[in-house]
Formats: sequence, structure tokens, C-alpha cells
Amino acid sequence: MRTHTVEVRRWCESLGGVARTAELARVGVDRHSLRAALDAGEVRRVREGVYATPDTGADVITAVLHGGTLGCVSRLQAEGLWLIDRDDRVHVSMPPTGRRRPHDDCECAIHWTASTNRGGMASIGDALVQVLQCQGAEHFFVALESAMRERRLSRSELQRLRGRLQIRHRHLVDFARWDADSGLESLLRLRLRPSGLDPASQVRIPGVGRVDFVLDDLIVIEVDGVPGHADSPGSRHKDLVRDAVASAHGLETLRFDYALVVYDWPLVEAAILAAVDRARRRRARRVVG
Ligand SMILES: [Zn+2]
Ligand SMILES: [Zn+2]
Repeated sequence: MRTHTVEVRRWCESLGGVARTAELARVGVDRHSLRAALDAGEVRRVREGVYATPDTGADVITAVLHGGTLGCVSRLQAEGLWLIDRDDRVHVSMPPTGRRRPHDDCECAIHWTASTNRGGMASIGDALVQVLQCQGAEHFFVALESAMRERRLSRSELQRLRGRLQIRHRHLVDFARWDADSGLESLLRLRLRPSGLDPASQVRIPGVGRVDFVLDDLIVIEVDGVPGHADSPGSRHKDLVRDAVASAHGLETLRFDYALVVYDWPLVEAAILAAVDRARRRRARRVVG
């Protein structure tokens, strides 16, 4: 029996947005129905035997054209999860027995690792494992806390993911939280961990308002230029007022921009540790005096 063209699209959607002829056949979509849906623009042909809904993302299409599935940072980017920085290359997960297919403008970053495939995309867990290998521990940790915050991993999936990591990397999963406020917070917590400092994020201070981070109840850290968070006009004056009020409360404010925190960490770390040291000395003097 013919399947209505709109139904063909719905089946394709229910299979994740990208489906093979065989998968569509299993749910009852025959070749004639598929041809009619193609003609009606309800689905598009990505390559021989693979079809997609018209709104399938360009990166997914590229990965499928390449012969694989969308993986690694590209998979997490498609999900809107935090990443330390954007990579415009498409990261493709290729089955180890797979075959690279030539396609136009191929600049794909390839991962030859087995991964699940739903709708032309690897699972979040598979993509995270790839991020660790491809981009390193910090990128992995930031993306992991984002996936946890968005509940894109269940507790059992998190434990399975932990089991797939090399033992030396498992501490990253143990250190990760379900309630991180931002990728910047994740990165700061991870980087300050060796010094034993645990920044509290989005802290409301009476008279000052909400600040980005507080360390040891003594140091305020404000970070400007965070991607996705526009600094409002006239914010310079407001920042100066906030700093003055914080100082009147005995809190020293350190200001950095996002690029400084991400790319010039030794300088930022030295500034933070020195400020914490000063503040602790002041507190000790107050206690003694
Ligand atoms: Zn490619
Ligand atoms: Zn990658």
C-alpha cells in the first residue's frame, strides 16, 4: 500500500531525521511512496539510499555525505551544549570498517570509532568520548557538565561513559556536577581545582547584585565578553559602582575577559592566587587584631 508523502516525512523524522531505504522499507515505505515524497519535497536524497527531512542540519548532511555520522564537538554543537570554542570543521564519526566518500569542500575531521547512529548523529555519550580524544580533558569536562545540566545523560549513561574512559580520566566524571551554571564556571572550577579553590557562581551580594564568581567569600571574579552574553551599554559605569560597593563590603573584585581566562590562564591564575593570598592575610590580621 502506498504511504502518503507527508507520512514518509514523518517516518523519516521518527527515525531521527535521516533514514536509509531499508529502514524506511521496514516501516512500510515502499520505493514508489519514497519517490512521490521526494518529488513533493517532503524528503531529500542525501546520497544513494539515504534520505533526510528538509530541515536536517547542514553538518549532519555533510557527515552523511562523508559516509559517517555527526560526532565529537559537531554533535554537541548541534545540541547547543557548551563548548570552549567553536570549530567550523565538521567532525565525523566513521565506522572502523566504513569507507570515506568523496564530497565537495570536504574539510571534515574524522574519528574512526564505532558509535551509535540515530538520524545521522552519534549519541551524546559517544560524542563526549570523541571530544576527550580529539580536544582534551578541559573541552570534555565543559561539554560533560553541559550535557549533565541539560539532562542529556542519565545517571546510568554517565556511569557507562565513565567506564569507557581510561582510568586516568575518570576523575573528570567524578568531579562533574549536574548544576553548573555555565561553561566558564566548569572551566574555572576545573582549573582552580589543584589550588583547592572552589568558586561559587552567580552569587547575589547585597548592594552589589549578582556577581559571576566568589572565591573564599573574599574575592569577586567578574568575566566580560562571555560568548552569548552581551555586555549591556553603559555597563562600564555600572561595573565601577559594583566594584566600589563590593570593596566597601571588604571584597576585592578581579575582572577578566573570556579570552584572557580561556587562553592566558597562567596570568589569570597568578592574579587570582595573589588576591586570595592578600585577602586571607587581611582576614587573619582582623581575627588576630
Ligand atoms: Zn568530508
Ligand atoms: Zn573531533
